[in-house]
Amino acid sequence: MNKIHVLSSNLVDQIAAGEVIERPASVVKELIDNSIDANATEIKININDGGKSFIQVNDNGDGMSKDDLTLSFQRHATSKINKHSDLENIKTMGFRGEALPSIASVSIVKIKSNIDVSSNGYEFNIKGGKESSLKPVVATKGTSISIRELFYNTPARKKFLKKNNTEYQQITKVVRTFLLSNPKISFKYKHNDKIIYDLPSQSLESRLTSIYGDTISQSLIKVYKSTKNISIKGYIGNLNLVKKRPSDQYLFVNDRYIKDRLISSSINKAYLNLIERGEFPFYVLNISLDPKTVDFNVHPTKKEIRFENEWKIYQYLKVAIEESLSTISNTIPNYNTIKSSPTFYNNNNLFSSINNSNEIEAKPINIDEILDTSIDSTEDQIKRNFDTMFNKEQESVFSATGEIWQIAKKYLFTEINDGLVIIDQHVAHERILYEEALDALEGDGLSSQTILFPETIKFLPDEYDSFLSILKYLEKIGFKVREFGKHTIIVEGLPSSIPLGSEDNLLKNILDEYITFKDNDVSFIHNIAATYACKGAIKAGDKLEKEEMSSLINQLFSTNNPYYCPHGRPIIVRMSEFELDKRFERK
Ligand code: ADP
Ligand code: MG
Repeated sequence: MNKIHVLSSNLVDQIAAGEVIERPASVVKELIDNSIDANATEIKININDGGKSFIQVNDNGDGMSKDDLTLSFQRHATSKINKHSDLENIKTMGFRGEALPSIASVSIVKIKSNIDVSSNGYEFNIKGGKESSLKPVVATKGTSISIRELFYNTPARKKFLKKNNTEYQQITKVVRTFLLSNPKISFKYKHNDKIIYDLPSQSLESRLTSIYGDTISQSLIKVYKSTKNISIKGYIGNLNLVKKRPSDQYLFVNDRYIKDRLISSSINKAYLNLIERGEFPFYVLNISLDPKTVDFNVHPTKKEIRFENEWKIYQYLKVAIEESLSTISNTIPNYNTIKSSPTFYNNNNLFSSINNSNEIEAKPINIDEILDTSIDSTEDQIKRNFDTMFNKEQESVFSATGEIWQIAKKYLFTEINDGLVIIDQHVAHERILYEEALDALEGDGLSSQTILFPETIKFLPDEYDSFLSILKYLEKIGFKVREFGKHTIIVEGLPSSIPLGSEDNLLKNILDEYITFKDNDVSFIHNIAATYACKGAIKAGDKLEKEEMSSLINQLFSTNNPYYCPHGRPIIVRMSEFELDKRFERK
């Protein structure tokens, strides 16, 4: 009458599969790990339907013998470690002997392998970890494994898979980590028979340009620092590559992609003063350590690892990056004042955007500072000013007919019939563009201006996918684009209200914002319009001509809400004649 029994090995495998194989991207990761461990120099990845129906990885590595081929699907069967001390000196990607049995227990697997061209290879078929068969086949040296119908026998897990496209994007991200950790390996990656990446063996720098486009090379800063116990190699990006989401941050330890909060924070620390909270620098860095000082056996997927000297690595990495950054930061006169660096994704050199003052963002207006200079103005008074300022009935008096002055290339100052107003030019324009874009998105669309020297923009494949899903909205705002090669577009037209030359930034920023927030509740249309407006608007620092100023003010007052920008910052500060009289103690 025992209640306890030992689980069947197949069920154990399925349970273990839950840890190692979460989704198609985990399968791809495990299979590429195996190809790398087999010393492959060429790896081909084919997937269909986001990997749900088909995943295939081919390599030209060492291959497996007939006996190894069947053994490799047994639990805890590995060629990579033998004794306990091996566990403390891991030099391979795998070592737990879990991946193949886990995968096989939840899918239909066919694997062909050959250790030597002059001999026969073998094909092994295994379904759900149980029914299997082995036969000799003609095969080239290396291994080819295909996985069909992932989770076919575990419907609960299958249900948790996302849309094909989402799974495809996850796989693409995984593949990209390998492209960057192993530039010497040539990779070919296809989804539904479409080539996504086809890259030869190359240097890391060439690989970066193959992935991100030629122009990235001007924005890369080399990192190289090395001692007996540790070395740091790779590239960091200059400020042009800073992003609002942590998408292009690759940290490898001994060529293994990892995530580590503390170590990544040391990179951010090194960028201190150059970036702000919520900004993410670009980096592709490999830390090489004596494997004896790292524990890779913390997590089933080995994404998290433990270091013996985490703080030392933290310090060393920080210094390495500071040194690399300083090679160029010497050229800026006032390093410490660079607080609010713009986050444009263009191809100028590191600090050009800072010297170029017209890209510095406007600071929010401190209303107290303006109203409360010489006399003590109570809270009530400020409130009253606001009340009059935002009294809808007064709107009609705002019309820019008289003189307008531009102050600090940031504020417009003009007289109205009942006093004066100060307008923040950036947020004012932002409000105008925002409402224009919203109207266009919900209505007939805006006209565009043709670009004489069209620019091409190269996207990452997964980004490109997202780009296509917002394309019809962008076209409504007035962008005209054409496909121009792989994951590359050419921008032929811009919304008429946007200054020429900003298309690259603008599109990338809108896309970034969309990718970051697409899963949130925020209105998607509002989001596109707001980003378009914020990034497309004239900046603090832009010198405006007379006509531009008056047109700006007139357009502002024909918007639905001239008082606040889409992000909630005030646009107008007003002082009434009454207020002025009081300040000058005129009774
Ligand atoms: P691990 O990688 O942790 O050893 P796996 O289950 O991933 O465990 O693989 C089991 C074994 O199968 C490996 O140790 C290796 O000997 C062999 N193997 C798996 N994939 C390949 C491959 N692509 N080429 C050569 N051998 C492989
Ligand atoms: Mg493995």
